[in-house]
Amino acid sequence: MGHGDTHTDISRFDTEVYADRLRRAAALTAAAGLDAIVVGTGPDLQYLTGAVADTFERLTALVVPATGTPAVVTARLELASLRASAIGDLGLTVRDWVDGDDPYALALQGLPDDPALGVSDALPALHVIPLAQRTAQPVTLATPVLRELRMLKDPAELDALRTAGAAIDRVHARMGEWLRPGRTEAQVAADITAAIVAEGHHRAEFVIVGSGPNGADPHHEQSDRVIQRDDIVVIDIGGPVGAGYNSDCTRTYCFTAPPADIAEAYAVLERAQAAAVAAVRPGATAQSIDAAARNVLAEAGLGEYFIHRTGHGIGLSVHEEPYIVAGNAVPLRPGMAFSIEPGVYLPGRWGARIEDIVVVTEDGAEPLNNQPHGLTVLPG
Ligand code: ZN
Ligand code: ZN
Ligand code: ZN
Repeated sequence: MGHGDTHTDISRFDTEVYADRLRRAAALTAAAGLDAIVVGTGPDLQYLTGAVADTFERLTALVVPATGTPAVVTARLELASLRASAIGDLGLTVRDWVDGDDPYALALQGLPDDPALGVSDALPALHVIPLAQRTAQPVTLATPVLRELRMLKDPAELDALRTAGAAIDRVHARMGEWLRPGRTEAQVAADITAAIVAEGHHRAEFVIVGSGPNGADPHHEQSDRVIQRDDIVVIDIGGPVGAGYNSDCTRTYCFTAPPADIAEAYAVLERAQAAAVAAVRPGATAQSIDAAARNVLAEAGLGEYFIHRTGHGIGLSVHEEPYIVAGNAVPLRPGMAFSIEPGVYLPGRWGARIEDIVVVTEDGAEPLNNQPHGLTVLPG
């Protein structure tokens, strides 16, 4: 997707933001009884250092020891781009290697013999196995450390998510420019994609245009179906802004007043989404937010048409912890950010979804999306 493939314009926060995260990562590593965590490229590395790197068979990893200075191990040919990230300012130890060297020995340099290692969940197995062969202790997932950090957004992240929310709201506010009967979903999606960039995103990460029966499939993206005047249309869109933080917002549109059964079901959906937002407060569990939305739909006899979880955390990844789903008893804490997106899906007929990102505050929820929630009637 054009410039989005290089991410050269993905910005980063002040160095102190990353220094603070690295300190907290070390403290959590120690608390988990680990000697170090080994973090591969991707959102986890970006979170801890601002570095946007994408390597596979050549090991690039950040090693955060429980005590001492974190180290970056990287192939020499990646060194320049990493130095251009916050890594260049953070005072990290950099150990570069060339083909033929043993990068795994470099990664473990300075750690105790047979260290207890945690690895990030996206570190490829082709790196995990050689690391595991160099310690007598079982290698575990660093997920508890990284999830704890990334689930609770710091002020810089909350600002970025607010910017992302406002940007995608502006795209929804302009929907009438592109979404019309007689056009295909794909034509509308192309215009939305351009607008997502024009309104301040680096790129469109996803553009769902689900018209008529396609709206009843939550996984539908877009097609050459021609939009009809009596369609209900689900538009679910988002992408990264600034330092890589994502927007994600769904609104549902039509071109003429819908039949009574659809209007009634939609009104229930609107109440379900509002009930879930109203249930957000510190100490409430993730699953209780899911239940708040689901119960409203179930009481109206629509429970069987809500076929996915109520939401997902969001940040550097579009989908991350905490998941707002039955079975997740994690208590909400201030600074968590996630979607609330119940839907109703009548197979073969129509679908609707309402999605906002919310942040948990000291006493409730701050919605980051603020376009009207009702079924928006566009000129047809
Ligand atoms: Zn960009
Ligand atoms: Zn969405
Ligand atoms: Zn979502």
